Amino acid sequence: MANDSDLLKGKHFCIRPFTQLSTFNDGRFRLCCSALEDERISRTSFTDLKDLWNSNQLISIREKLLNDEPIPECKNCYSQEGRGGISDRIQSNQELSDYEVESLIRGIKNENLAEPPVVLDIRVGNLCHLRCQSCYPSLSNLVSKDVKEIFNNDRKGVVSVDNGHRLGSGVNIDELKPLLSTAQKLKVIGGEPMLNSFTHEVLDQMMTGEISQNIEFHIHTNLMKWDQNFCEKLERFAKTRLCMSVDAFGDLNSYIRYPSQWNHISKNLEAYLSFFNTKKNVNLAISPVIQIFNLFHIHQLIDYILELEIKYSTSVSLDFIYLTDPSYYSPYILPLAIKEEAREEFDRYYNQLNSDVQQRLNGLKEFYESLSRQKENVAELKKFKEVTNIYDSHRELRVLDFVPWLGTI
Ligand code: SF4
Repeated sequence: MANDSDLLKGKHFCIRPFTQLSTFNDGRFRLCCSALEDERISRTSFTDLKDLWNSNQLISIREKLLNDEPIPECKNCYSQEGRGGISDRIQSNQELSDYEVESLIRGIKNENLAEPPVVLDIRVGNLCHLRCQSCYPSLSNLVSKDVKEIFNNDRKGVVSVDNGHRLGSGVNIDELKPLLSTAQKLKVIGGEPMLNSFTHEVLDQMMTGEISQNIEFHIHTNLMKWDQNFCEKLERFAKTRLCMSVDAFGDLNSYIRYPSQWNHISKNLEAYLSFFNTKKNVNLAISPVIQIFNLFHIHQLIDYILELEIKYSTSVSLDFIYLTDPSYYSPYILPLAIKEEAREEFDRYYNQLNSDVQQRLNGLKEFYESLSRQKENVAELKKFKEVTNIYDSHRELRVLDFVPWLGTI
């Protein structure tokens, strides 16, 4: 077993399985929001969330991590690091001091029992308004329907889900309650959480007693819904982070996040900014998923957000997510010449920004620089074209109307 102080420098050690309990829709489980699903654990393997937290499966994963052994479900982090990127693993480890690591793992060394989770990452079900191309059936009931109906249940290896395409959280409020009192952060993700009755049940529970005043609350929304009553609850937490999913500016966003309409999304985005701009405890974030479709267009979205910050005298965090799955939407698969062109174009944009904005975009800059470190993948590119063509003909759209440069590959 490595020394505590060496653990954070390890190649595989990650603090998240010691601090974060993550569920997945339908009572399934993941080590964290970046990990692949652990199919060995299902709702029937544990009686409640406390039982899951100290299950044999999690104990064995923690033991492996204490020996700095790799975990198969963490391959997204390892491949990102292999390309020279900063993974969620590295970021999470950097946030903890050696002292905190020592106290977190003490229980495990003594009795195999972890301290109660500090972060609760709860999926509330896959009910959603949208059918984004790169999304998964387990995350949107409408994507599930599309994969079944458009692709005859095989969108290049992605299959639909059962239960009438609709998945619940698989978690109930009674098993969540005892964990809420000791957690420092609760993340709620869907589908679209605002559509889901379980989200409202959790929020109401948090409004009782003083739970909301002692916890940081994170919620992700697709911006299809504006609900003032909901927002009034969000401001009652010690801290709230509202993460809004937008992938591009204008019609390209409507194409990627089908069938949303840009006028509707931008109107709701402005409503959130206007409502929360004076609330110091609420942090607003935009989380664009960087994928082939927006590779040459992300600067338009950034400019738009910068303008909104001035208009509403507020600041918005830019949390870029770098798509890894399905891999045929990842920019890494593109021909080298295209990736070089994308990097040069981004550099030109970056170089004319002021240093404060540049600093906010340094992670994105690193991503563009890392593109050429991976070879193009002809087979994946072929899949990308096939899947895009099938979606286009079904939706009566033409990708070249939104992303003209794709006509060159
Ligand atoms: S290594 Fe990555 S995927 Fe695995 S638990 Fe840590 S952050 Fe999550």
